[in-house]
Amino acid sequence: MSREGKAFRSRLYEIDPRRGVARLKNRVCPKCGRVMALHRSPAPRWHCGYCSYTEVARL
Ligand SMILES: [Zn+2]
Repeated sequence: MSREGKAFRSRLYEIDPRRGVARLKNRVCPKCGRVMALHRSPAPRWHCGYCSYTEVARL
């Protein structure tokens, strides 16, 4: 993680003030660097529509 990524990263997380935690809103594809989509069914997973990379989400 670079220092320049700090501002960008803050847009990818959603702060929950009640619990004091940051939740991941979007994830960047490790293969092509594009924002991935979160699919909740049949199982939570991140999917990249550009290169079809899929990763199991831990919610
Ligand atoms: Zn990708």
